[in-house]
Amino acid sequence: RSASSGRPDGSAGDTKPMTATDIKVNVSIPEAAERAAATGADGVGLLRMEHMVLSTNKTPQQYVDDHGEEAFVNTLTDSMRTVAEAFYPRPVRVRTLDAPSDEFRQLEGGDDEPSEHNPMLGYRGIRRSLEEPATFKLQLRAFKKLYEMGYDSLELMLPLVTDAEDVHRATASLREVGIDPEKRDWGVMVETPASALCIEELCETGLDFVSFGTNDLTQYTLAVDRNNGTVADRYDELHPAVMGLLHDVIETCREYDVSTSICGQAASKPRMIQELVDAGITSVSVNVDAVHDAQREAKRVEQRLILESVRD
Ligand code: PEP
Ligand code: MG
Repeated sequence: RSASSGRPDGSAGDTKPMTATDIKVNVSIPEAAERAAATGADGVGLLRMEHMVLSTNKTPQQYVDDHGEEAFVNTLTDSMRTVAEAFYPRPVRVRTLDAPSDEFRQLEGGDDEPSEHNPMLGYRGIRRSLEEPATFKLQLRAFKKLYEMGYDSLELMLPLVTDAEDVHRATASLREVGIDPEKRDWGVMVETPASALCIEELCETGLDFVSFGTNDLTQYTLAVDRNNGTVADRYDELHPAVMGLLHDVIETCREYDVSTSICGQAASKPRMIQELVDAGITSVSVNVDAVHDAQREAKRVEQRLILESVRD
């Protein structure tokens, strides 16, 4: 790996307002990495692994059946490496597979997907990875390969975690493939109400960070399907019930010295940035087009906080 693409110090140039809060970017596909890196974002807050799989048009199982395990690992490695290279040495947070079965069903091999009445509450995220350890370990092997190549900037994130038991089982798999969780940066999405309510136990697993997936956290907290237009007017990421969970998690994580982030769509809403920067969130990750606005908004809040502390 080389530091040729990013600036060696990880900064982004003179135009970027310096913020104490890291402003990161969500990267959808590896091909978008260069443009995302050029925004001067402080790293990638969310790179979804399922896009790397969906772009092959085959389910992971079908891909492995057709091309073998090594080829599957290499596909993931190449995609992750493209992003890690574009941002190096800025951190890149990659999330393990989280495609609901109805999305996998569209792919070659999708006929084998379970038929689920409600896929969003079903077989996805970490719960699927724990049921299919062979596929999970192929994902983890891609991380391991990149660590061995020197991409120490990679962070590993687990989706749809509900409790510490999920985390203990996942870190056991990490160890089985030869990744030492003590030596790598890893964490979980907080996107189920359960994970927010069990945050102390999660912090005690030794994770380095949590990241709020407000797209899911909102749908599960308010019981409003995020893809159902009929109830869309009830879908409110700034609802006091959701905000209360975010505040509680940030407070607990600060006690445990666990860093906090938000990578759901709501991260680009000015009021969300205001509240969470005010609460002491470590980083905010937004879509590429929202990076500069988020930097300015965070800066505004930080300046106000400084002024208030001087006045007190
Ligand atoms: C979220 O739930 O907010 C999130 C970022 O994950 P996804 O949108 O992939 O479910
Ligand atoms: Mg989610």
